[in-house]
Amino acid sequence: MAVYQKCIPHEYHASIFEIPYKTLKEQGIKSLFFDLDNTIIGYDEVSLSKDHIKLLKDLQNDFKIVIISNTSYKRVSLALKDIEVPFIWHAKKPLKSGFRKAVKMVNQDKNNVIMVGDQLMTDVFGSTRYGIKAILVRSVKRKSDRKITQFNRKLEQIVLKKIKKNLPDLYNERLKQYVQDH
Ligand SMILES: [Mg+2]
Repeated sequence: MAVYQKCIPHEYHASIFEIPYKTLKEQGIKSLFFDLDNTIIGYDEVSLSKDHIKLLKDLQNDFKIVIISNTSYKRVSLALKDIEVPFIWHAKKPLKSGFRKAVKMVNQDKNNVIMVGDQLMTDVFGSTRYGIKAILVRSVKRKSDRKITQFNRKLEQIVLKKIKKNLPDLYNERLKQYVQDH
């Protein structure tokens, strides 16, 4: 399977607050993995808002949650200081190791897990190649992307073009809105 085929999310939603969690639960999803930066908070924000904490706490009633971030222990632990949620830092997405670790933590079949993230090249590609479905969300604040992310975004443009050309139906269904939203 070509790389671009592994960069197609299961669904796209405008934010983590718009995801139909109830439906996911009904579909048998037991665990949700979340990226942190630009998925939950912008790079220029240091901590979760009350709304974020409420959402994650509510979700913890129905799902096992793990935060999988490529950023430092210091940043992730500070962001999550007001909520008890397991996290993986320096996850090196799109490598499989972080996802593997998270699956072990929740002790679930990969088919019952969904990864939620804002980047095609790390969150979607990384989880899909490991066998976990991905939900793509709009970046909280695209302007606050870090340097490495700006590089990934360039790759993303190439991948998006390939998907649009070769799999137009999937593109229209799951990625067109994502492109329009940025
Ligand atoms: Mg991110």
